[in-house]
Amino acid sequence: MSPVRVLLFCFLCTSSCASELRERALRLMARDPLIDGHNDLALQLRILHNNKLSHIRLYNLSNVATDINRLKTGRVGAQVFAAYVMCTAQEKDAVRLTLEQIDVIQRMCTSYPDLELVTSAQGLEQSTKTACLISIEGGHSIDSSLATLRMFYQLGVRSMALTHTCNTPWAESSSNIYSFYPKKNQSLTSFGEAVVREMNRLGMIVDLSHSSWDTARSVLEISTAPVIFSHSSAFAVCQHNRNVPDWLLVMLKEKRGLIMVNMHSGFISCGEKGNISVVADHFEHIRKVAGFESIGIGGDYDGASKFPDGLEDVSKYPALIQELVRRNWTETELAAILRRNFLRVFKEVEKVRDRQSSQPPSEAEIPLADAANPCRLILTRPVSGSVFRDASSSNVNVLTCSVVSSVLLPFLLLLLLLLLPTAV
Ligand SMILES: [Zn+2]
Repeated sequence: MSPVRVLLFCFLCTSSCASELRERALRLMARDPLIDGHNDLALQLRILHNNKLSHIRLYNLSNVATDINRLKTGRVGAQVFAAYVMCTAQEKDAVRLTLEQIDVIQRMCTSYPDLELVTSAQGLEQSTKTACLISIEGGHSIDSSLATLRMFYQLGVRSMALTHTCNTPWAESSSNIYSFYPKKNQSLTSFGEAVVREMNRLGMIVDLSHSSWDTARSVLEISTAPVIFSHSSAFAVCQHNRNVPDWLLVMLKEKRGLIMVNMHSGFISCGEKGNISVVADHFEHIRKVAGFESIGIGGDYDGASKFPDGLEDVSKYPALIQELVRRNWTETELAAILRRNFLRVFKEVEKVRDRQSSQPPSEAEIPLADAANPCRLILTRPVSGSVFRDASSSNVNVLTCSVVSSVLLPFLLLLLLLLLPTAV
């Protein structure tokens, strides 16, 4: 055979093999559509459109990596949307901003017929549309309040990352770019443990992406339900502190948890660029250490800017599955990483919730000294016999802020009256 014929033969063979692999990947994804553990479209809606959904059509959005058409092309059957607010909102208006992000996800997922907001494993499993789940990305969103955590659950939030890139007063981040709450014990405080236990009681999935490794270890030790890393990759393949080291992967496997592999080039190849092959290397490494039952996919689209060639947006997921098919991953393994592992974890989290249904909500409070900051109104009990004591009840809380104003305000008014004639 002439060299030209050999080349032509190889080309035809390769392209027909590729199309066969692609067909197999698409068939698998039709049967088990992807549950993607992390997406930041809501953040982009805030940045680019100030959350004004009436100004845009979600089928085809420019300047982002996610829209309804591309979710469908990518065979994404369910998307966990992050309600994320920046760490700079900690000690300020993080709770309001989080509510606004939950609001935009709710409006998005209830106003388009192709989307469906779900809040249970059963709802997720049965949805015939692109199902939406809401997660919170960063414990600063609850402002150290279990009541706030519970209200977020009532609004449909089913997962929360304990930290983003800042420490909270009760948990520590993998990052040290912010100076909030300097590290003390490299881990969780006792209030942090109460947050984890309350999330277990509520049926909210604990997400350890962005947490420090020691915080993750503590959570894995105390959580009674499986936990997830919603968008992290393997540290052994890319040495970034957002990724998960092997010893944590082993713990995660023992606790039946899940690591949903992040596609961002910075966590895949520790650089600007990456390719599908390196992404597949992360999957293979995690399978070797923790088994395929511990793996999911959490793309992080619209939360980062650099993605590997061939995986630029949510429409490209079939190319990843095609590569894993090429590497001889079995149908059982692929169905598990696409969808079934996450469903299993979610169901186990719900079971833990159901087992604790008779347990009352936690009334644990963070020690005042731990959460003290200038923007937090400190509520104190009145001192017995104090002039500020409420006449109707000795247990009524008095705002120190009100106390200050009740003392200072009359004094300032008097001063003003005395100065008024001079001023005129
Ligand atoms: Zn993130």
